[in-house]
Amino acid sequence: MNKKPPPAASLPTRLVHAGKAPVFEGGSPVNPPVVRASTVLFDSVAQQRDMRMRRGDERLFTYGARGNPTNFALEDLVSELEGAYRTRLFPTGLAAIAMTLLSYLKPGDHVLMSDSVYEPARKLVDSFLTPYNIRCTFFAADGSDVEEKIETSTRMIYAECPGSLVYEMCDLPQLAEMAHARGLLLAADNTWGSGCQYRPLALGADISIMAATKYLSGHSDVMMGTVATTQETWQPLAERSDAFGMTVSPDDAYLVMRGARTLAARLAMHERGGLQVAHWLQSRPEVATVFCPALPEHPGHALWARDCKGSNGLVSFELQSAFDQAAAERLIDSLALFGIGASWGGYESLVTLADMRRARSVSDWSDRGQVIRLHVGLEDPADLICDLIQGFATLAS
Ligand SMILES: *Cc1c(COP(=O)(O)O)cnc(C)c1O
Repeated sequence: MNKKPPPAASLPTRLVHAGKAPVFEGGSPVNPPVVRASTVLFDSVAQQRDMRMRRGDERLFTYGARGNPTNFALEDLVSELEGAYRTRLFPTGLAAIAMTLLSYLKPGDHVLMSDSVYEPARKLVDSFLTPYNIRCTFFAADGSDVEEKIETSTRMIYAECPGSLVYEMCDLPQLAEMAHARGLLLAADNTWGSGCQYRPLALGADISIMAATKYLSGHSDVMMGTVATTQETWQPLAERSDAFGMTVSPDDAYLVMRGARTLAARLAMHERGGLQVAHWLQSRPEVATVFCPALPEHPGHALWARDCKGSNGLVSFELQSAFDQAAAERLIDSLALFGIGASWGGYESLVTLADMRRARSVSDWSDRGQVIRLHVGLEDPADLICDLIQGFATLAS
């Protein structure tokens, strides 16, 4: 028997119960099975025809590229997490972003993108939007200049909140109101919030994108992106994704699903460790600024406190400008517990040098110090701080 949790159950409860396995004769496994398939067999030509007619609107198992029961279970879990009508899965987070732009924009349209977007999303402007005559203007990461940048051909506002690298906050409900008053769509990259800490659809967005590669999967061993939408916004995404043959492997969907079961528990630990490291960084004279929206000193803290349920393991800091890039690199290279690498959201701690001058075009970072991004993993924060203490000692040399 598949039991359904009561609708009022809290998120950690729903994460455990969403996307159940089908019932088999005799009983059912706890986890949805991996269903590998290209061909799907039908009982008759009439059934095949009926399925083909209905699969545009309904989610039916009709062909490998149209999804399979493993992927459907993960889609359901993400829809639950995001408070969405439905969800589509993509091979990477970046593919999810690209398919969102491709689904809702056409030549001649204009899109407003936040200055704080994940850098490869910014690169899509030169590599895809501009050559296809879709114009893009970047707006200030706090959203303050959005209204004046809206044009008659604007179709979409694309936000990332909190922003990549330094976690700028914008007022998403206000952007939603502004967008909907003019018939525009509001899309948000929700990778930071992962549905647990931030829920763009509940705040008025039409489309929420996540790199499931990060916290959802949580183990640095699988790539995936998700796009969740409201019912009114669903059709263009579904049609375009089918037209482009977008699908993911059921093995990968299984891995993301397995990670997502413990998302709430892991995030609580990442948040606790992240805050401990953030407070320690604030005590260091070598540090000019600590970036984490849960800190009262963060410029977006009030919006974070209003709209987010918590934070995560991402903490960035700016060194005093007396320290050059070579000093920052010395510090990074000396760390033993923080791996040097891109991405984040796994169980392990990471460190990377952030190039803010390259990552922003609206805000000016030319006079600022070196920015280092940490991802605080599930290690004991006391050990991580010990490691940072010896790392900071290299700054003195
Ligand atoms: C990592 C990331 C992505 C892209 O995810 P991939 O799966 O690596 O393509 C998108 N948005 C944000 C905010 C990210 O941090």
